[in-house]
Amino acid sequence: MLTTDFDNGAIGTAGRSARDARPECETVARLARTHFGVSTVLITVSSSSGQELLAVAGMAPATLPPALLAACAAAGKRHETLIVVDDIRGDPRFVNEDGAGTSPESRPHFFAACALTDSGGQQIGTLYLLDASPRRLDETQRSTLRDFASLAAYALARAQAQAQAQSADSFEVDSNLVSLALTGSGTGLWDRNVTTGEVHYSPAWAAMLGYGPNDLSNRIEDAYLRLHPDDLAHVQATMKAHFDNRTDSYAVEHRIRCKDGSYKWICSRGKVVSRDRDGRALRMVGTTTDITALRETSQELQHTIDLITNLTNEVPGLVFEYRLTLDGRATVTYASEGIKDIYELTPEDVTRSADAIEARIDPRDVAAYRYSLQQSAANLTPWHLEYRVTLPHQGTCWRQGDARPQRLPDGSTLWHGFITDATDRKRIEADLNELATIDHLTQLPNRRHFTLRSEAELMRIRTADIKQAAVLMLDLDHFKVLNDRWGHALGDRALSHFAALLRAESRAGDIVGRIGGEEFAAVLPDATIDDAVAFARRVQRRIDEAPLVEGARQVAMTVSIGIDSLRATDVGAYQALSRCDKALYVAKERGRNRIEVYEEESMGAD
Ligand code: GH3
Ligand code: MG
Ligand code: MG
Repeated sequence: MLTTDFDNGAIGTAGRSARDARPECETVARLARTHFGVSTVLITVSSSSGQELLAVAGMAPATLPPALLAACAAAGKRHETLIVVDDIRGDPRFVNEDGAGTSPESRPHFFAACALTDSGGQQIGTLYLLDASPRRLDETQRSTLRDFASLAAYALARAQAQAQAQSADSFEVDSNLVSLALTGSGTGLWDRNVTTGEVHYSPAWAAMLGYGPNDLSNRIEDAYLRLHPDDLAHVQATMKAHFDNRTDSYAVEHRIRCKDGSYKWICSRGKVVSRDRDGRALRMVGTTTDITALRETSQELQHTIDLITNLTNEVPGLVFEYRLTLDGRATVTYASEGIKDIYELTPEDVTRSADAIEARIDPRDVAAYRYSLQQSAANLTPWHLEYRVTLPHQGTCWRQGDARPQRLPDGSTLWHGFITDATDRKRIEADLNELATIDHLTQLPNRRHFTLRSEAELMRIRTADIKQAAVLMLDLDHFKVLNDRWGHALGDRALSHFAALLRAESRAGDIVGRIGGEEFAAVLPDATIDDAVAFARRVQRRIDEAPLVEGARQVAMTVSIGIDSLRATDVGAYQALSRCDKALYVAKERGRNRIEVYEEESMGAD
C-alpha cells in the first residue's frame, strides 16, 4: 500500500540514504513550481512501506487522494512514467473523491505524477504537481516535467550509491580488525552474497572444521550439505526468518560435519548488512563458534542434575534447600518429590511460597519451628527439630528435620537438609517411655518415675511461694497372708484394686506411684500434714467401704500409712520418703491399719 506521511516529512529506514539527496530535490521542487506555476510540488521516495515525502515546494496538502496514489501505483505496474489528471471533477476515476480531509476551496483539482526511475528503470520515487485550478499539460510541458523528474532521480540514485559505498568501506575496515581479534578465539567468519549464493569463509572458519584455506567450496548448496540432516530444516527456517526481516539477527546452534566426517556443535550468528530497496537480502555476514566442548559440559551438568534429582527423589523423606533472607522472607529453592509424603504438597507449591509449609505444621509446634530456624541462622548451628504436622490425609504425624546452614554474601541463610517421617519412631518411643515409667499391673508411675517426679516437686518447692508438699508412704497389711490364702493372681487384682482407689482419691497434680510389691507412695503438692492425714483417712475409708469383690467373696484389706512433709532443705526426695518409711514402721508396730506422722524426737534416731 502506498502511504504518504505529509505531516512531518519523515523518511523511513529505506529512505535514509535519500536524505542526502534532499537539498537537491528541494531545489528541483522549487524550480518546477516556478516553471509550471502550480501551488505545490512534492517529491517522494519509494520505501518498503510506501512513498515517503522527501521535498516540498509550496503548501503541502494533508494527504493525497487515495485514488491518485492507486492510479500512480497502477501506472507504475504498466511501466508508465507519467500520469496527468487535468481536473479531478471531470475525471471518472475520482468521482467519489472528497478531497481527503481538505476544505473544498483548497482541494487540488489538478494533479500530475511523474515517476523517478533509476538506471535500471526501477521506480525510486515520484514527483507530483498539484494545483487548485484545472489545467492541461502540453507535450513540451510533459517533457519538461520528465526532465525535472530525471534531475531528482539522479540526485536520489547518487545518494544511494554513496551510502552503499560507505557501508562497504566501513565493513571492510571493521572486518579486518574483527577477524584479527577472532582468529585466536576459535571463532570463524563468513560472508555470504545472498544473490549469487557465494559464501566466503575466513581461514579460522575452515580450520575449525579441519579444512585448509583452499579446501572449501564457496557454494551455499555445499554449505547446506555439511549441516547435520536433523538440523537443516531449523537452520533454514531461522535464516529465512531473518531474510524476511522477521528477526533482528540470525542466531542458531546446530551440528556441522568436519572434514574427517565427525560432527561438531557450532553457534552461528549473523546479520544481513545490505538489502535492495524492496528489502530483499543482498549480503549477510556472520560468525561461527565451536561450542562442542560447551555442549559436552552442559550435558555433563545436566547429567549431574538428573542424578541428584533422581537420588533425592528416591531417598525416603524430603531433601531440600531453604533460604531465609535478612528481612525474613523464606523460599524453598529446591524440594525433592518426598515433599508429597512429608507435607502433602508438591515441589511447585512450596517454591511458589514457603508459607504453604508453615500452614501444615501443627499449631502447637509452629513457635518451636520458627525459633529453631532463627537460632540455627543466628548461630550457624545445625538445625534439628522434631515436630508435629497436621496433614489432610495422614492427619497428625511426627517429622524430624536436620539441615546445615550457611551464610550467603547478602546476609541471607541457606540450609541444605532433609526431613523424615518420625511418626513410627515417636510411637515406639512413647511405648518404651510408658514401659519405662508406668507399672504394668497397676498403671501407676513406677518407682523410678515416681522418684523423678518427686525430685521435680522438691525443686519446685525450693523456688515456689508456697514451699510445702506432703509425702505419704502406704503399705498393705499382711499382704503375704492374703496371697497365701487367695492365691497370687487374686493378690495381683487386689493390688490393682487398691491402685484404682488411690488414683480416684488423688487430685490432678498429685504424684502417686507404686514403689514396691505392695508399697505405694504419694506426694501431694501444696498440702499440709493435716491435708495428708485427711487424704490418708479417705484412702483407708475407701478400702474399707469398697473391698475387692471376687464373685461371692469380699477380699478385705487394710493399709498402714506414714506421713511427713517434703522439705526445701532435703537433699533429695528420698529423704522425705525415708522419714515416711519410719512413720510407716511405727504404724505397723502399733498394730497396722494406722496413720502415723513422722516425729523427729521419737522416730528420728536410727
Ligand atoms: P506387713 O503387714 O508387715 O506389711 O506384712 P506383709 O505380708 O504385707 O509384708 P511382707 O513384706 O512380709 O510381704 C509382702 C508380700 O507382698 C510378699 C509378696 O508375696 C507380696 N507381693 C509383692 N509383690 C507382689 C505382686 O506383684 N503380686 C502379688 N500377688 N503379691 C506380691
Ligand atoms: Mg505389707
Ligand atoms: Mg511391704
